[in-house]
Parts: sequence; C-alpha cells; structure tokens
Amino acid sequence: MEREWELRAICRREDPEVWFSRRTAARAKQLCLKECPVREECLEAILAREAKTANSMRAGIIAGLTGAERAKLAASRSAKAPVKKPQAAPPGPGRPQAPCGTRSAYQRHLRKKEPVCAACRAANARSGVQYRRTGSSQVPAAR
Ligand code: SF4
Ligand SMILES: [Zn+2]
Repeated sequence: MEREWELRAICRREDPEVWFSRRTAARAKQLCLKECPVREECLEAILAREAKTANSMRAGIIAGLTGAERAKLAASRSAKAPVKKPQAAPPGPGRPQAPCGTRSAYQRHLRKKEPVCAACRAANARSGVQYRRTGSSQVPAAR
C-alpha cells in the first residue's frame, strides 16, 4: 500500500534515473534536500527498509543521501541507540506465559475470559488451517 507521503514525493514526478545515475547525483541531492516536501518521512522509511541491507547494496540517492551516506547515518544512529534487552519474564511461579500470537495465548484469553487480541485470533485461525490441512496442529519448523 502506498503511504500518503509518497504521493507527494518529488521523485514520483521525475525520471527515476536522476536518482540512480552518477552523472545526475548532484541534481538528485538538490531535489531531495531542497525541494522535496517529504524528505524526513522518506529518510526514516529508507533507513528502516535498508536496516538489513548490506552497505554495498544501498543503491541510488534516497532522501538526499548516497548509499554510503545512509549506511554511515544508520551506523551512527545504532551506536547511539540503547541496546534493547529482551524483557525478563515477570517473577512468579509456574511456566512463563505463551506470548500473544500463539494458539496457547489464544486459549488462555478464552480461559480467562479476556478479549482475544488480533494476533492471537490470527494464530488460532492459522493453526485451524494447519490442522485441516495436515491433521496435526503442530506447526512445521520454520521454512
Ligand atoms: S527525499 Fe525521498 S521522496 Fe523526496 S525526492 Fe528524494 S528520494 Fe524522493
Ligand atoms: Zn493475545
């Protein structure tokens, strides 16, 4: 689905080659940095999209930055960001609860008469499909 801001992107209205040719890199930067009204949105989107992209695969001028510049910015941001630790299970007896998005969590919601969240409802529907298809509710190991 297109995001609303993408409709306002300058690069939609110009020849996309401008953003991907060395010869026009300066022009592309100027359009992004001086004329595009959605540069901020574009920058956050591309950094997120490229989070797992090898630096050498970051192509084109996007949000006014070359691939190398985006890689550098991403690296400097992640160096500053606090490392997220996985949340420790709350203290208390018993097994840790299954997280939402699993069939056991779905059943727990029902048992506790809690509203069933969307993730759990989806997980339950998936395992129903799985059961009908294979006769087992065991989800096969990740493919
Ligand atoms: S900032 Fe992003 S959306 Fe705007 S012209 Fe540049 S690449 Fe396109
Ligand atoms: Zn849930």
